[in-house]
Amino acid sequence: MAKKPEYGLLIDYEYCTGCFACQVACAQEHKWPAGMGGIRVIEIVENLPNDKHYLKFMPIPTELCVLCAGRTKKGEKPACVHHCMAACMKYGKIEELAKEINKPRMVLWAPRA
Ligand code: SF4
Ligand code: SF4
Repeated sequence: MAKKPEYGLLIDYEYCTGCFACQVACAQEHKWPAGMGGIRVIEIVENLPNDKHYLKFMPIPTELCVLCAGRTKKGEKPACVHHCMAACMKYGKIEELAKEINKPRMVLWAPRA
């Protein structure tokens, strides 16, 4: 049976501005080749009445995310969390992060342990 992950990321994408800083920070930290990375920001177009549209952004960690083990061992935040100016990402223990889910548009993510 797979090991239960202890740490993860809590993402409040309601306030994500789509700046892509998390994606760039991950690529720089881990020197990913172009097109690869531990997190990707996707754009979601919501159709509204009267031919209007609302653009939302959703940062999604990938299977390549290692939760910045090298940084967190030293007590630093993961690169993506550190560089998110909107402060919509948080790193911590899954059990503690789960208690903070209190509204829509929040995602708790755990990597493969
Ligand atoms: S925690 Fe580290 S490895 Fe995972 S997405 Fe963020 S920067 Fe990339
Ligand atoms: S750095 Fe923060 S605000 Fe910018 S795209 Fe990533 S999650 Fe969204």
